[in-house]
Amino acid sequence: MGLRVGIPRALWYYSYYPFWRTFFESLGAKVVDSGPTSRDTLNMGVDETVSEACVPIKVFVGHVKSLIKRWEKREIDAIFMPRYVNWSGRTVYCPKFLGLPDMIRYSFSDLPKLIEVRLDARRRPLALLRACNTIRKELGAPRRLLLGAYVKALRTLHRHNELLRQGVSPLDSIASTAGGTSVNATSGKVAGETREDREARDNRETPVIRLAVLGYPYLIYDRYVNLGLLDKLKNLGVEVITAECVWPHLVQKEASKFIKNLFWTYSDMVAKAGYYFLDLDANEAKPEAHRIDGIIHITAFGCGPDAMVDKLLELKARQLSKPFLPLTLDEHTGEAGALTRLEAFVDMLKRRCMTAG
Ligand code: SF4
Repeated sequence: MGLRVGIPRALWYYSYYPFWRTFFESLGAKVVDSGPTSRDTLNMGVDETVSEACVPIKVFVGHVKSLIKRWEKREIDAIFMPRYVNWSGRTVYCPKFLGLPDMIRYSFSDLPKLIEVRLDARRRPLALLRACNTIRKELGAPRRLLLGAYVKALRTLHRHNELLRQGVSPLDSIASTAGGTSVNATSGKVAGETREDREARDNRETPVIRLAVLGYPYLIYDRYVNLGLLDKLKNLGVEVITAECVWPHLVQKEASKFIKNLFWTYSDMVAKAGYYFLDLDANEAKPEAHRIDGIIHITAFGCGPDAMVDKLLELKARQLSKPFLPLTLDEHTGEAGALTRLEAFVDMLKRRCMTAG
């Protein structure tokens, strides 16, 4: 039997899991995902992490702890722990991403084998392929399988990105690219929904406003951490658009006219997506589906880069008179308080639309 490799459902998971799952499986390994975040996951992360750490790091550590428990029950053999430095050749991941393998190694005394690779596209050509070759050696797979597995993984990642651009959520896309669930790419709905689901969806208020919900993918797609924010907005009759719905090269091209590259990868993506959406009103050539009535910025308490991104977005929104709601999440954020703020924001927007109409 191939190596059973645990992958934490946190941080880079929402962007790159389809690539790694396909690559590992093509080399004969079995991939075990740590599953959705729960209260237990977060509590385990909080117990093992310094209190100053941001909530996504606490969630990550909690997922690693749940995988360690599975290793103790002999359900997995190793944990995949890449060191993400630079994937695009341009921006760098937050320092906490860079230090993840060290953080995990020094947080737990008894650990399974960590499969660790450094991903830095700036230093050497073909950095990703080289990292894949290191993994192949760790798995003991023959060299002849490397290129095929690599190309297959790249294709799966491309399909994942295509689905995200069509409005499919990362979790639905991950299920779909694993061959488990088919998704309707144009609506982003899981094709296998029940009649009750469909009726509930049809009975919702018709969307009258469209909001850009911006934030790191590991905040806005982790339903436990964000208190089900996207579903709540949809239930309030809001059409939601996220940074993942637009191809990055389009965002880069348009937003780079107004804002310099930010140093950190995900911060750069969020700030530029915000500028892209905000500047649509001034540019008639942009697609109608990307025009928005306001922005909600989901931030993590204790995140340094977010403090800057939030200010940039707030100033730009104010300059263009676009409603802007910052929502900061941490492990203590209460559902009732967050929902009240969302409802008040959406009510205000609906009234504004009615007055304008
Ligand atoms: S970018 Fe912010 S939220 Fe993400 S890991 Fe770094 S500090 Fe935490």
